[in-house]
Amino acid sequence: MVEEKTTIVLKITDVRHPVSKEPDLPLLVARRLGVARADVQSIKILRRATDARQRRIDYVYTITAAVTVPPEKTQEIEHRPGVSVHQDYETAPQIIARSADPVVIIGAGPAGLFAALTLVRRGIRPLVLEQGERISLRIRRVEQFWSQGILHPLSNVVYGEGGAGTFSDGKLTTRIKSPLKEDVLRTFVHYGASSDILYDARPHIGTDRLRIIIAAMVDDLQRQGVEFRFNTQVNDFILHNGTVCGVVANDDIPARSVFVATGHSARDMYRILRIRGATFQRKNFAVGLRIEHPQEFINQAIIQRKRHRCDPRLLPASYAVTYHDEPSGRGVYSFCMCPGGTVIGCAEEDDILCTNGMSTSQRNTPWANAAIVVTVNTHDFKGVDPFSGLEMQTMLEHQAYTFGGGGFKAPAQLARDFVSDAASSPSFENKPCSYRPGITPADLRILLPVWIREPLQRAIIAFDKKIPGFIHEGLMLGVETRTSAPLRIMRDPVSFHAIGIRGLIPIGEGSGYAGGIMSSAVDGIQAARSFDHNAG
Ligand SMILES: Cc1cc2nc3c(=O)[nH]c(=O)nc-3n(C[C@H](O)[C@H](O)[C@H](O)COP(=O)(O)OP(=O)(O)OC[C@H]3O[C@@H](n4cnc5c(N)ncnc54)[C@H](O)[C@@H]3O)c2cc1C
Repeated sequence: MVEEKTTIVLKITDVRHPVSKEPDLPLLVARRLGVARADVQSIKILRRATDARQRRIDYVYTITAAVTVPPEKTQEIEHRPGVSVHQDYETAPQIIARSADPVVIIGAGPAGLFAALTLVRRGIRPLVLEQGERISLRIRRVEQFWSQGILHPLSNVVYGEGGAGTFSDGKLTTRIKSPLKEDVLRTFVHYGASSDILYDARPHIGTDRLRIIIAAMVDDLQRQGVEFRFNTQVNDFILHNGTVCGVVANDDIPARSVFVATGHSARDMYRILRIRGATFQRKNFAVGLRIEHPQEFINQAIIQRKRHRCDPRLLPASYAVTYHDEPSGRGVYSFCMCPGGTVIGCAEEDDILCTNGMSTSQRNTPWANAAIVVTVNTHDFKGVDPFSGLEMQTMLEHQAYTFGGGGFKAPAQLARDFVSDAASSPSFENKPCSYRPGITPADLRILLPVWIREPLQRAIIAFDKKIPGFIHEGLMLGVETRTSAPLRIMRDPVSFHAIGIRGLIPIGEGSGYAGGIMSSAVDGIQAARSFDHNAG
């Protein structure tokens, strides 16, 4: 008699095996479920993380598996620890009839591009207006900026095809919990990213690959009927009775709906929207400095502290540190840690400067850097002006430019001088640094307001206890201001339309509802999935 069997799809967490051995994942799954290996029909890795907390270094997987078992056994299997029934999320958006009403997207960063992709899947062909250039031209502008300090105001590290994320570390980590994250990862893989990102706990693409992937995505969207106009800056909106009916660029462009995906560096856009009737709300953000160390030091400090030999699979090592500053009640934390990367300068105006981090897919420079930032709360500002945080960021960036002595050189200070009360030593003792076009010795203690500086100093002293040598080996550069938008454009949570301007849909990092490549892309998808001309 043939035994009756049923197939169930399960999600299994915490499947482990040592990094030093080739895994037989179906066998590991079978053992966890108490079934024969032959009963495991297929497996798919959802996530892979590395656990180096013990002497043995493990890969830790989350896996979905289709298993064929007798019906009476399913309940027992489904109730095993770390096992649950897997529900696949349907990512295909609903197709709607093609509308003749024009839809405009301003900005070709992650939010704008993923909104365009989602709209085209729904049968709508948007027009994308981007003030910067295509990546091939943008690369030359950016290189000129880093090597000679010559800035192009509309095509630079933060503006142009792919937006701010293009010259980045390309880390795709995020704290948001949306099933649409998988859609974003699959799209990146479709356009050329390694499939490892589909399951790596800390997916990373790198600027070199991201530049190719973004250009491929734009080319494909064009083939699917999305029109892109580069070198096209939107300067205003045409409104009728509080409803958007077009945008002003080189010409007036009619539009029934406008997605504003302009990022949080485009401060002029906030001012235009304010004049046109959008409403804003202050939000928390963070500012601080960037710290750079030799990567070799971080490798030794992080990995050997855990008594491991430097397994090449764990290199380059990274860290994430947090500190609660009791006297001020502020949080201080490392942000955008770039192992094997470089510190880069970002600016879109002639006399401002802020730092950020970038790496290639290989993460193979001799440096490790991270922002160390202090939380800034809405109640830190007097009055009710929602633009106060924006003004603080701008003021610090002007100061950083001045402290650097012009030409986009970054002001820098040895970490040990930054944390001490003594006078700062003027030289860096020839300390090498990845930042181009160069660094200028400066006292960063007086660049920052005291309520930011003191928690930062205490945090760095605390981090030195966790990572001995953190201070001695560290070089600080300023100023790190663009962790996230300091304000939010108020919008309807269901239709995504801006409160105050019907037909205007603020999305991505600039809207204040997202921060980082992944969450900005997801925000663009969500808004485009909910899109309805008549909403708002
Ligand atoms: C150097 C650097 C490194 C980073 N590294 C990472 C990282 O590793 N991981 C991560 O998750 N995030 C990283 N970020 C942050 C990430 O890039 C942003 O969160 C993300 O790009 C925001 O996406 P967005 O589409 O909302 O806006 P943006 O990417 O900022 O794109 C906005 C676009 O709109 C265009 N635009 C603005 N105003 C106008 C106008 N008036 N008319 C026409 N076009 C306009 C701009 O030119 C720009 O191209 C990094 C940022 C920088 C600067």
